[in-house]
Amino acid sequence: MAGGPLAADVACMTCLFDDRVAVRARRVHEGVETDRYRCERGHTFGLDWPTPAAEPQWPPPPEVLAGLHD
Ligand SMILES: [Zn+2]
Repeated sequence: MAGGPLAADVACMTCLFDDRVAVRARRVHEGVETDRYRCERGHTFGLDWPTPAAEPQWPPPPEVLAGLHD
């Protein structure tokens, strides 16, 4: 279990940093240290979780959303 139950959904890193939009990505594979995700727009990526997430990862926190519109 990498990210744990609170990391089942995250914000897509590609959409966030390339397109500056928050798009939900669902976990498609849970690994030992790395989970793989696929977003609603079809991007796939991996996230390393040294420890399971302590807070829900979706929706993103307000400071992340606010940063999209600089
Ligand atoms: Zn995406």
